[in-house]
Amino acid sequence: MATKVVWDERLITRERAANMAGTWGLKVDNRGVTPGVYLRCGQCDGNVMLLPPSGYLVDPDAIISAVVRHMAMNHNYSLSGAPSAAA
Ligand SMILES: [Zn+2]
Repeated sequence: MATKVVWDERLITRERAANMAGTWGLKVDNRGVTPGVYLRCGQCDGNVMLLPPSGYLVDPDAIISAVVRHMAMNHNYSLSGAPSAAA
């Protein structure tokens, strides 16, 4: 099976991304405009990812990537896993 890289390994390793995402609280709902299951941030309720419809495979790497992206963009986490001083 081919490995699909969904983030830049020069910025953050797959292992570190998984460890970061694994600490983040998430919730799911279907309150979005587009029908489907929304993965939302447990802290700000922001949309992290729209999961594919029922019956489709979900790529765990894509979820990890989306969570880390949300942490960095919306909560000022550095890719080293630490909250930035400006947060
Ligand atoms: Zn958030």
